[in-house]
Amino acid sequence: MNQKKIKFINIGCKVNFAETSRLKDILSERGFGVTDKSADADIVLINTCTVTNQADADCRSAIRKAKRASPQAFVGVFGCYAQLHSSELEEMPEVNAVYGIKEKFMIPDLLSMHIDKSEKSIEVSDLTELHFDFAYSSDSEARSRAFLKIQDGCNYKCTYCTIPNARGYPRSLEFEKLPEQFNEVRSKGYLEIVLSGINLGEYKSNDKYRFKDVLKLISSNDFGVRFRVSSLEPNLIDSEVISLLCNSDNICPHFHIPLQSGSDKILKLMKRRYNSQRIFDSVLEIKSVNPDACIGLDVITGFPGESAVEFDETYKFINTLPVSYLHVFTYSERKNTLAATFPNSVPKITRKERTAKLKELSDSKLQEFHKSQIGKTNLFLPEKYDADKKIHYGHTSNYVNCFVKTDKKLENKIFAVKFQELSNGKVLAALA
Ligand code: SF4
Repeated sequence: MNQKKIKFINIGCKVNFAETSRLKDILSERGFGVTDKSADADIVLINTCTVTNQADADCRSAIRKAKRASPQAFVGVFGCYAQLHSSELEEMPEVNAVYGIKEKFMIPDLLSMHIDKSEKSIEVSDLTELHFDFAYSSDSEARSRAFLKIQDGCNYKCTYCTIPNARGYPRSLEFEKLPEQFNEVRSKGYLEIVLSGINLGEYKSNDKYRFKDVLKLISSNDFGVRFRVSSLEPNLIDSEVISLLCNSDNICPHFHIPLQSGSDKILKLMKRRYNSQRIFDSVLEIKSVNPDACIGLDVITGFPGESAVEFDETYKFINTLPVSYLHVFTYSERKNTLAATFPNSVPKITRKERTAKLKELSDSKLQEFHKSQIGKTNLFLPEKYDADKKIHYGHTSNYVNCFVKTDKKLENKIFAVKFQELSNGKVLAALA
């Protein structure tokens, strides 16, 4: 049993990535082998996502593909899609076992009981009495950036979202344990920790510590790494958070904000907890404190009720803002959400056209941001090295995707670089 090899497949967000990675570590410690080769796999474990209909479809297709590639393997499916759609997975002949959110980190114990069973095993409990499962990604080749999950779950009621049903209520890593976890990640050689969560800004420990306390802890202590914040809800960004992210030597000046729409009518329908003015003020404040800060926005196109007028409002709103890039998502109806019952659904073709327009806007915003950096210096963490071309690829603290040409193979440390010129969506930089 202990000689068996597992192939892991991860679908979805950085929190999933961290959890898959942690599971890999636990199972390796238990004596399992890990393989990337389908032909060698005795077991395939698939961590799933259910954020959109497309994600659901991707999960089903990944399962079929995995079974075709490893017909001999036991296929276990876990994560968000497994939690919400276990009955669909029960119907799939390719699947041997289904594990819910609560059972995710019980897989190392459950596997040995399930692997030789001829019938399908379904272990999906309801989302009560949840606890926080610590996880960080630890399998990046370059050992440069790790995603550390410090928060899980969400209790907001955004009308388009099924994540609270899949992940359950908010819970967080105990505040007192943070230094130990930072040190553990650092001891593996990582130089950047991306603080991650489902609704990270809702971090709360012992009714006493909030996300701002985490930021204060890392800005006033040297853990030997730099920190990046994965994403923050707009209603949780205030002057103190802006100052902590923009003025600390240990925290990268990079904000990723789920705007979703620039129309107040749509934000209201989405039951988001802010209006466009709040975002406008925050973005301008960030740029006034640190003009080189990177600001990314998530946007959803084609939400029910988004006529040409509201889309235009969103487009113009974003166009006026000094933001650096957009992540654009096309709205898709999700079962058991309020938004799926709303009238004035937008034709799918229009949704796609709007997505394409915003992606174009994103490209030009990114170019503008990159241009504004030419001639400036920043701190570069190498992530990948192309030995043939002698090029190091990585990001600066303000998330400029850049590359450095040098004969030297740079050590795993942070270097000062000067931005030189734009090149295919990246920036050429030289060691300063
Ligand atoms: S904040 Fe809204 S969109 Fe984000 S996970 Fe919570 S309910 Fe979903």
